[in-house]
Amino acid sequence: RSEENERGESEFHGADGPLRVCDGRARSELSQAFIDSAVAAGHPVNDDFNAGEQDGVGWYQLTQRDGKRGSCALSYLHPVSDRPNLTVEKHVHVLRVLLEGNRATGIAGVRLDEVLEFSASREVILCAGAYGSPQLLMLSGIGRREELEPLQIEPLVESPGVGLNLQDHPNAGVIHAVEEPISLFEAMNPDNLARLMGEGQGPLTSNVAEVGGFVQTRAGLEGPDIQFHFAPAVFQHEGLIPGQEHGFAAGACVLKPKSRGYVALVSPDPTAKPLIVHNYLDHPDDRASMIAGVRACMEIAATEPLARYASGPINVPASDSDEDILAHVAANLQTLYHPVGTCRMGTDELAVVDPELRVHGVEGLRVIDASVMPTVTRGNTNAPTIAIAERAADLVRGRVPAGTAAAAA
Ligand SMILES: Cc1cc2nc3c(=O)[nH]c(=O)nc-3n(C[C@H](O)[C@H](O)[C@H](O)COP(=O)(O)OP(=O)(O)OC[C@H]3O[C@@H](n4cnc5c(N)ncnc54)[C@H](O)[C@@H]3O)c2cc1C
Repeated sequence: RSEENERGESEFHGADGPLRVCDGRARSELSQAFIDSAVAAGHPVNDDFNAGEQDGVGWYQLTQRDGKRGSCALSYLHPVSDRPNLTVEKHVHVLRVLLEGNRATGIAGVRLDEVLEFSASREVILCAGAYGSPQLLMLSGIGRREELEPLQIEPLVESPGVGLNLQDHPNAGVIHAVEEPISLFEAMNPDNLARLMGEGQGPLTSNVAEVGGFVQTRAGLEGPDIQFHFAPAVFQHEGLIPGQEHGFAAGACVLKPKSRGYVALVSPDPTAKPLIVHNYLDHPDDRASMIAGVRACMEIAATEPLARYASGPINVPASDSDEDILAHVAANLQTLYHPVGTCRMGTDELAVVDPELRVHGVEGLRVIDASVMPTVTRGNTNAPTIAIAERAADLVRGRVPAGTAAAAA
């Protein structure tokens, strides 16, 4: 329902939703070389990862509009910004949910030194993400008594699973220099900026990870355990330190990690960051997938035609032995920014929200964001989070969700 796919409507895609989904407009020859080398190394081509069959390599479709990121704000909020029943309060840091007994009645927040309270006549919806939502629940007294009391937070609702079950897609790979001036290095220049702003074209429309794919690295899995992201750029240090030369980066992330981390409070100060412990690659199966994934990146980078572009290693394992790859991973592992699971949906004792995303033990409070996912999706998390939000919008409004058996009846 969300999707407005430029390829049109099909069994797997919508074409009239608010979220524009496009083929990338920046198509680096390095990205095409990655696909060609992956195919030469034995991976199938996949023209649409979202059409039933996930395995294979190809170009990613993007949530872009006119060559620029089509965010949720742009796609959903801006078009309805003049609705009389919508007010967006900016620059407010939420401190906690206000509770009367076990009923949520509003939220408290601050805007600089201005203390604010907002009351809710029907319900409060938390959507502060997989790090922020469990933090806010705990700051509101919803969590484990033995952890809240030492922080002098009054435990109001026992919820033993808050903050647990943290999952993400850990990522590592290889980076090579390229002599020819064909990567995104120095793409940020006035000419390219003018093309982006004027025509929505050019290298600055690149989503960086232009191509990639999915692979099962061992037999007996339910689906791919590794996803590739290939960037025609020296993408290093989580993108925080710009590359100094032309190059490319090929990374592999663990798609269905068995390791679990947690988010915890270390301070009753609502403006303090929570403690975030990911325990990446704690489980041996995750390490096995990671090693196989990085090895696959090494193989693809060493296969023609990509191999002929690689003029020298910038950051690669010392060899393709398990030990050297694991040492490389230990030094270079990064998040793929897909944290989920810390307010897990379910009906068991550790579930934080029920199947309608209502916080167990509290009336009038839902969590609607990536934190409710029981396990991380086998692919990037933005579209799945939007799908959760669309389903939740129906639940909040009491509408029969589109596409269900009940709706068809
Ligand atoms: C750098 C980066 C790149 C990514 N790239 C991709 C990608 O290419 N494809 C993809 O599918 N996914 C991508 N993701 C992941 C995707 O953005 C997330 O899965 C998705 O945004 C999760 O949505 P959410 O609503 O759960 O949380 P968020 O989008 O994180 O929203 C939570 C919001 O709550 C706010 N907040 C938190 N605490 C408070 C508080 N106390 N008071 C007020 N506000 C608060 C935060 O500022 C934030 O705006 C990327 C993420 C990052 C960080």
